[in-house]
Amino acid sequence: MIAGVRQVCASGLVALAAVSAGCSDPAPGEPAVDAAAIDGAVAIDAAGEVDADVGADAATACATPAACEQRAADRFDAILGDPAALDAFLAAVPKGGDLHQHLSGAVYAETYLDWARADGVCVNTTTFAAVAASSCSASTQPAPASGSFFDQIVRAWSMEGFMAGAETGHDHFFATFGKFGVVAGAHRDEELADVVTRAASENQLYVETMFNLGRNVGTLAAADWTGTLTAADLPAFYATLTADPQFAARVTADVAVVTAAHDGYRTVLACDDLSPSPPCRVELRFVAQVSRTGANDQIFGQLVGAFEMARQTGLIVGANLSSPEDDPAAISNYELHMAMLDFLYRRYTEPALSPLQITLHAGELTAAYLPPGSTANTFHIRRAVQVGHAARIGHGVDVMSETDPAALLDELAARDVLVEVCLSSNDQILEVRGAAHPLAQYLAHGVPVALATDDQGVSRSSLAGEYKKAALEQHLGYRQLKTMARDSLQHAFLPGASLWTSVATATPVAACAGGTVGGAASAACQDHLAGSERARLQWKLEQRFLAFEQAQPAP
Ligand SMILES: [Zn+2]
Repeated sequence: MIAGVRQVCASGLVALAAVSAGCSDPAPGEPAVDAAAIDGAVAIDAAGEVDADVGADAATACATPAACEQRAADRFDAILGDPAALDAFLAAVPKGGDLHQHLSGAVYAETYLDWARADGVCVNTTTFAAVAASSCSASTQPAPASGSFFDQIVRAWSMEGFMAGAETGHDHFFATFGKFGVVAGAHRDEELADVVTRAASENQLYVETMFNLGRNVGTLAAADWTGTLTAADLPAFYATLTADPQFAARVTADVAVVTAAHDGYRTVLACDDLSPSPPCRVELRFVAQVSRTGANDQIFGQLVGAFEMARQTGLIVGANLSSPEDDPAAISNYELHMAMLDFLYRRYTEPALSPLQITLHAGELTAAYLPPGSTANTFHIRRAVQVGHAARIGHGVDVMSETDPAALLDELAARDVLVEVCLSSNDQILEVRGAAHPLAQYLAHGVPVALATDDQGVSRSSLAGEYKKAALEQHLGYRQLKTMARDSLQHAFLPGASLWTSVATATPVAACAGGTVGGAASAACQDHLAGSERARLQWKLEQRFLAFEQAQPAP
């Protein structure tokens, strides 16, 4: 039976209160997803159960998985003009993973205000920047619970109601982080809990979230190096840093941050109880976010710290350079940062000393926000891949302004580099939307893509909201969304072989061929799944697609 429903939220643009409450009640008539029934610790154990039970529950059973998929596709097409039905469909559809998410930007302003009140935090009545309780003054007021000041803060801390005028969306978006920073900095574990709660509410299986990691090694590196830093200095700098008597202890301290974050959010959610809630079953991994506008010695140290941490814990899987790519410091240091990543790739990745992978914000640029004379929008993506060894690209909005874009798109496809597509963010920060967005070009060249949220709290969106933009503004069909969900797990920074030989054609590996993928696994397939964390999650996604598609009403 599909019973004991833990249901997704009704809207793609999820109300915060609903998320906080766990979105535990299905909206009337919505297809239900029973995470508990299909979400066992060993996914393959649940395979047969899903196959048999969902069919029994379907209002009108569809004969084959292909027929069920077609029914879901038909349903999707039929409800594109029905906002409520589309929201429900897109909230419930299995989504794989969110691969591009900044932790502090993922939380809604209302939640930050809840925490601000509990902390006694005040908010400046002119700038709307939060200040610690000890800094409350005549120019601040206590964080409110409602009213016009509350509404003003929500607008200042997010894109809620934003209208471009003297201030651009670009500047308003990036300014939000400093305004809620005092609150965000004090609630890491609750933020992580909020993230997986929202993910579970939208039928996501996996999240990679970014926050500032590796700071202990970064600080040590800044102390170990003085003066300017060039690419030629990197071997000597690395030798000095790793020979520092404090190096090992700093790495240990950085690993402890990662471990504490993992344990902390699971404590918030009581994940070690006998019956942990669905958010506890969302696989969460961390990506070290290193600000590209910081000091270069600190940046290098944090990157070293990330590679070292990943040797010790599988909780951290990647590193990413963040902060505005069009910042003058980010632009002037871009080649040095790529050289750092190339150096560390040869030091750690080639000899298989560290499993850390690289994803880079690249091509989050438009000419309008570049300094005069800058050519950054002609080469950042290509350099990120060719020199920075980026396995994934974040945004890639300006790909068509890169030198020889067709060749670059083909190269991305040939290298199997996935682009993390963040439609709301690109719309709000860069004013790139609709046909001006290069998503169609990526798809036309066979570049793998996956939708991601970037900063869902600031954007007032969610992964379901990104699906909605893909459906209504990019005109993607059901099977394209399904392929993107599959690609999100194919390109997740998880260990293990894939379930697929081809995601584009949904062709499983030989061990899992011959039956229904996500159905009853053969002995050979069970062996394959047992040996791969990635394949197990991919199998679970297929289970959820079977359940979702079989639960769709017949036309
Ligand atoms: Zn980002």
